[in-house]
Amino acid sequence: MPIATVNPATGQTLETFAPFSLDEVERRLALAERTYASWRTTGFPERARLLHRAADLLDERQEDIARTMTLEMGKPIGAARAEAAKCAKAMRWYADRSHTLLADERPAPEDVADSGGTGAYVRYRPLGPVLAVMPWNFPFWQVVRFAAPALMAGNVGLLKHASNVPRTALALEELFLAAGYPEGCFQTLLIGSAGVEGVIRDRRVAAVTLTGSEGAGRAVAAVAGDEVKKTVLELGGSDPFLVMPSADLPAAVAKAVTARVQNNGQSCIAAKRFIVHAEVYAAFLAAFTDRMRELVVGDPMEEATEVGPLATSQGRADLEELVADAVAQGAVVECGGERPEGPTGWYYLPTVLSGVTPGMRIHHEEAFGPVATVYRAESLAEAVAIANDSPYGLSSNVWTTDPAEQAECVRDLQAGGVFFNGMTASHPAFPFGGTKRSGYGRELSGHGIREFCNITTVWNG
Ligand code: NAP
Repeated sequence: MPIATVNPATGQTLETFAPFSLDEVERRLALAERTYASWRTTGFPERARLLHRAADLLDERQEDIARTMTLEMGKPIGAARAEAAKCAKAMRWYADRSHTLLADERPAPEDVADSGGTGAYVRYRPLGPVLAVMPWNFPFWQVVRFAAPALMAGNVGLLKHASNVPRTALALEELFLAAGYPEGCFQTLLIGSAGVEGVIRDRRVAAVTLTGSEGAGRAVAAVAGDEVKKTVLELGGSDPFLVMPSADLPAAVAKAVTARVQNNGQSCIAAKRFIVHAEVYAAFLAAFTDRMRELVVGDPMEEATEVGPLATSQGRADLEELVADAVAQGAVVECGGERPEGPTGWYYLPTVLSGVTPGMRIHHEEAFGPVATVYRAESLAEAVAIANDSPYGLSSNVWTTDPAEQAECVRDLQAGGVFFNGMTASHPAFPFGGTKRSGYGRELSGHGIREFCNITTVWNG
């Protein structure tokens, strides 16, 4: 894939970028190593001061940055502004708390009485330059959610962003530099995916985090494993959204629509499979289909647009194949199922499919676009079984007010999150990540910042 800005709303290529030469990559790796040697010794107050400055600058530049994101990957402009604002909030969250999250840990004296050491403690030390391989769908948020804690922990960052968001990638590097970070604390590497292996194998790179598809995760983790380097993988998802009879149905329908079509349907934590109890199935399906049909599809730069184009023509082709496979095997198209008439970009109508069965690809694969599948279940146990019948396990959503049903879901749903009477959303205070093919490791919260630390035992005899 060439490194280029291509407007998904028109299909027009606006700018192409030559990938960095091997010499340039080498220069940046050397700089990362040099900068790390001094950055690791800075204290939390200095790191926090710079991260606050980056957050303030991000707020000042919000409109420009939002427009760049929308231009490169097609999310509605309002959502792009919200993404930039969320990044600034996360930066402040880590700036204000990292000294506590990474404070030395002292075991209780009675727990270590027989260890022979006095005053033993655990210190969270940084690891070094960390490579972040990132996707285009939340092109600022995915990077900041890695970079804010990594920099606060004393690591330095190297970003290999998705090839279709180069301007966003460069804006990120520029933001950290303008905030006053030493050169080399956060660098963008304009390289294609073929250049990633060499960077991972470089002795100066300590660890790798990847957010993206299962295939990319497998490739990156295989190389990192071969080099015995730590990885965190945030991969795809096909999150279930269970609706039980006790649910507030209008509220559930409204959230179901938002959860499915946020970011033009291209979110790892979008609810993708709607599993509805038989008692409320017909009412849910009718109302959900109506709302999906009414969504405003159009130019993402227009304030009124609710669903913009898919980010790439390949992404739309993949989605169309999934729908065609399901329909050929008997799935019912309740609405959508085709491109809208008119616009030339990579648009696809919000789509609802019912009658999906396990033989269809869409039952097991991630639909990365505004396509929902609706299932009928006779009981909570059956709903949970359908939910778990997926290779993925990122998050889950359940609409029930029954405490016994909630307890059953917390016990049985195979996912990194269980959200009741709402939709999955990330927040700096909560760990974020999945199980099964959705990856491993956690981002955000104290768990996230400790992923790229050398957890060091200090013992003194
Ligand atoms: P992608 O194709 O996997 O790309 C993600 C990143 O990996 C890009 O920078 C890409 O570079 C790079 N990459 C791809 N193949 C690679 C390889 N073999 N070796 C090294 N690097 C490689 O994913 P995407 O289409 O951008 O994003 C969609 C996927 O990301 C979905 O599955 C979605 O669910 C998942 N996602 C997960 C989370 C989460 O937190 N769990 C969040 C957002 C998205 P190029 O662009 O140069 O190919």
